[in-house]
Amino acid sequence: MSVKTAERKNVMSAKQTKDTLKDIDGVKLENSEVTLHVGHEKGACKEYWCTLHNRSPHPMRYMQQFWRSDRQIMERVCSHGVGHPDPDELIEKDWTHGCDGCCDVAMEYLRMNKRLDA
Ligand SMILES: [Zn+2]
Ligand SMILES: [Zn+2]
Ligand SMILES: [Zn+2]
Repeated sequence: MSVKTAERKNVMSAKQTKDTLKDIDGVKLENSEVTLHVGHEKGACKEYWCTLHNRSPHPMRYMQQFWRSDRQIMERVCSHGVGHPDPDELIEKDWTHGCDGCCDVAMEYLRMNKRLDA
């Protein structure tokens, strides 16, 4: 699946910038025992949806958050163990992932809320 980024200026990645992660006060990932200690500072995302500090009420909130340190994106893991991009993550141009369809409902939510182009 490929998704455009243009409408998603209202989202801030957990990353501070493209390639810099800062040490931050630990943030417990949702539905997870993991605490993330890297990302942007708390105030930076005030006006944005954020996977760490300002999560939107999207349909994947019940899933476990999983920080993909290799790709530096936040994922949500469905009950089948498949990781999908967190809807509040800054979307990369190529959003291809091994998907079993469990994020379709979140895509619909993002479209309805005009957070996706298509
Ligand atoms: Zn934030
Ligand atoms: Zn699934
Ligand atoms: Zn998916």
